[in-house]
Amino acid sequence: MSTPKFRIAICGGGVGGLTLAVALSRYPDIIVDVYEAAQSFYEIGAGVGIWPRAFKVLRKFGPDLEQQLLQCCGYECRTEEYVLAAKHRKGDQAVGTELFDLMTKGDLMRFHRAQFHGVLLSHVSPSCTTHNAKRLKSYTQPFKGRSRNTPITLTFTDGSTATCDVLIGADGIKSAVRSCMLRELSKGMNPDEKQSVLSCINPVWSGVTAYRTLISAEKLRARCPDHRGLREFTTYMGKDACLVVYPISLGQYVNFAGFTLQRDLVDTAYEIDAGIPRRSFDGKANNEWVGELTAEQFVKPFRHFEDDAKHLLECVERGTLWAVHTVKPLPSTNFGRVALIGDAAHAMMPFQGSGAGQSIEDAYFLATVLGHKSTTLETVPRALAIYDKLRRPFSADVAARSRLCGQLYAFQTDVPLHKLGDTITKNWEWAWLTELDDALKEGVRLVEDSSINIS
Ligand SMILES: Cc1cc2nc3c(=O)[nH]c(=O)nc-3n(C[C@H](O)[C@H](O)[C@H](O)COP(=O)(O)OP(=O)(O)OC[C@H]3O[C@@H](n4cnc5c(N)ncnc54)[C@H](O)[C@@H]3O)c2cc1C
Repeated sequence: MSTPKFRIAICGGGVGGLTLAVALSRYPDIIVDVYEAAQSFYEIGAGVGIWPRAFKVLRKFGPDLEQQLLQCCGYECRTEEYVLAAKHRKGDQAVGTELFDLMTKGDLMRFHRAQFHGVLLSHVSPSCTTHNAKRLKSYTQPFKGRSRNTPITLTFTDGSTATCDVLIGADGIKSAVRSCMLRELSKGMNPDEKQSVLSCINPVWSGVTAYRTLISAEKLRARCPDHRGLREFTTYMGKDACLVVYPISLGQYVNFAGFTLQRDLVDTAYEIDAGIPRRSFDGKANNEWVGELTAEQFVKPFRHFEDDAKHLLECVERGTLWAVHTVKPLPSTNFGRVALIGDAAHAMMPFQGSGAGQSIEDAYFLATVLGHKSTTLETVPRALAIYDKLRRPFSADVAARSRLCGQLYAFQTDVPLHKLGDTITKNWEWAWLTELDDALKEGVRLVEDSSINIS
């Protein structure tokens, strides 16, 4: 084995953290530790869709991983042709009407989250050490003079510590790494700049509440044998609310989510609905954004939707409620030898189903610049700055598009009904008509030619 060039700690083992661990497995001269707060690596039982752009990134991990992912979806191979990705209906009325079909170049791959996560986990190299029940509290990064390369110290909530040369915060929307990094970044700034940077630490409520559940396909079939949710992705659009349904797990389950969009409450503090108990998935009091829903609570905001949607609502047994929060656009996703990926860097609205895809892209890009033979411990800050330069504007643009998509779904714009199809499709085409490869090439060029100024 070659001499390690540096040690990377990945904080958080969600989609972004595990993708980064898999991507770094290709570089034997990098030692990787993953620190995950939960007792085990898990994902809640709901669906996640991966668009062609992000799926092409996953394919770079080789045929084994791709085959396993295809198997999860019951595909022998994917198509690169134009296919129907989702039907869109005006559903907030007694008799719904068709609005448009979203056609995409290549399939939207739809997964059960736990299965998707399981595939990634099975491809993390044995040389990468994973640590569970390690919730990061804070870190310290020595900076000045000779201490520039002194290890970063991680402190966990159980009182233990660890060290690393490079720290990647993949710790989701409430990122502890983001909180520490923005505090570091703001040191020495004038009071206004400082306040602006620190205001990005806490996520803000988007005014959107998500109602999520899985329905047994058998149950839906018994009620309505030919229900569209058993075979195709359908969005029921409505004034200030919408519903999304699609089959997953080889047709065993139907992923069903409802959204309410309160535009007067965008960027306000979320107030807990007293009627809904808040509990996290490990059963501990949470008191915050995620709660368990009874069937009645799930159904209530969507009672006025068409019969087709009502059949789905009648199958709901329980669900989870999510107050959808976002992270404000950050001034930077890196500082020194620390960087953020995924939701820690840019948690966004779910209306283009792209948050996980963006964490996958961040992770692959970051592994490419860090793993490149020209990158040494000395030049890690430059590699991270290149990541920030090429990835941050892109993910910010996706976040803005996701927000707009939600407004279009909820009839909150001036776009007339007959133009919604074109507008939504144009706003989303990046996810199947563009690739990460151009940014990767540019990233490698900037890593290889250190004379190019990247600021
Ligand atoms: C309703 C809804 C539907 C969505 N649908 C889609 C979709 O179809 N397609 C899509 O691409 N995206 C979708 N998303 C977005 C997607 O779920 C997220 O963007 C994605 O999970 C982010 O991955 P991540 O790895 O950055 O963060 P996370 O998945 O949140 O993972 C963070 C990990 O870090 C751990 N952690 C947290 N704090 C600490 C700490 N202090 N120390 C150590 N570990 C820590 C957590 O336990 C967790 O394992 C949806 C989101 C919502 C709300």
